[in-house]
Amino acid sequence: MNALGERIAALIAAQGPISVAQFMTLALHDAQGGYYATRDPFGRGGDFITAPEISQMFGEMLGLWCGQAWVDQGCPKNTRLVELGPGRGTLMADALRALKRVPGFLDEVELVLVEASPTLRDIQRERLKDSGARIRWSAHFEVQESPLLLLANEFFDALPVRQYVKTARGWCERMVVVKDGELDFALAPQITPAAAIPASRAGAPDGGVYETAPAAISLMEEISRTIASHGGAALLIDYGYADAGFGETLQAVRDHRFAPVLADPGASDLSAHVDFTALGEAARHGGAQIFGPRPQGEFLDGLGIGVRARRLIQSHPPEAESLTKAVARLTAPDQMGNLFRAMAVLPPSAPPPPGF
Ligand code: SAH
Repeated sequence: MNALGERIAALIAAQGPISVAQFMTLALHDAQGGYYATRDPFGRGGDFITAPEISQMFGEMLGLWCGQAWVDQGCPKNTRLVELGPGRGTLMADALRALKRVPGFLDEVELVLVEASPTLRDIQRERLKDSGARIRWSAHFEVQESPLLLLANEFFDALPVRQYVKTARGWCERMVVVKDGELDFALAPQITPAAAIPASRAGAPDGGVYETAPAAISLMEEISRTIASHGGAALLIDYGYADAGFGETLQAVRDHRFAPVLADPGASDLSAHVDFTALGEAARHGGAQIFGPRPQGEFLDGLGIGVRARRLIQSHPPEAESLTKAVARLTAPDQMGNLFRAMAVLPPSAPPPPGF
């Protein structure tokens, strides 16, 4: 067991089994050993590659999407543009370059990057230092009474999930325990009240799993409430599902491969597929309107990524091959085009945004 594993085991010895969500929070964010807190995980040399790291076109399209929403709603003053979990800052750097072409945007809109990791915050600050934009960092999403534009790429999948398993006795929460000196999963002895399980899952067979992300749901509700009352638009892109089954999706990835979830906490990325149905319900509960989820490939095609690629190829002919490959990687159904989906949140009466 590594040092963070030892500390988690000591915590369990002191307070009893911890939830899968608490384990995930410690493994990702512990100040000394947490995955995001201590490293830059992106890119070929890292553990995984995300869309903005594949091509500048991704951030440019998302930036212009925000610019369009702002113009469509009458260029409101005191708008905030918030990015959740900006990684290396690449998406924001590309978005800001594109947003320079939207008159007034960068003068009127406050930029806020929500980042938990001090290591990644430093990387983002360095990446964005020449952007010419005034940027503020925050460790959490803050509710404010003003219009909100929000981008989140591969952020909601990093929020902690709780898992409940259907047994002959009823639903029991899956916990993390220490067994034979190692971290292990075990079911809580007490039964979870049936009222805590949505009706759509009640018919699960024995062994079926109900996975839920309470932090994601309450965050989505806060975002939607703000947009419904003050205007703006949010765009979430993530891998996820719209038809919840009875399976679990929590996974660990290290060096571009799957790894065991509990081994060496903090050494691999932990994430879970996003439940778009649950997030959509939370958004409607917050009073907003949702569009999608739509496959990322269709969404980017709808925004005109093909046209943007042709323009870039005309001005940089030697990059034709790499640009064509990047478009395929982001949009082809057998690459990222289908697995990743885009969902937009808008005020109740807004017309469909670009790409939906
Ligand atoms: N959007 C980036 C990075 C995705 S990885 C990209 O597409 O490349 C997830 C990002 O969210 C990282 O920056 C991570 O540090 C941050 N993060 C994860 N959980 C967080 C939380 N609870 N609060 C704030 N930031 C978080």
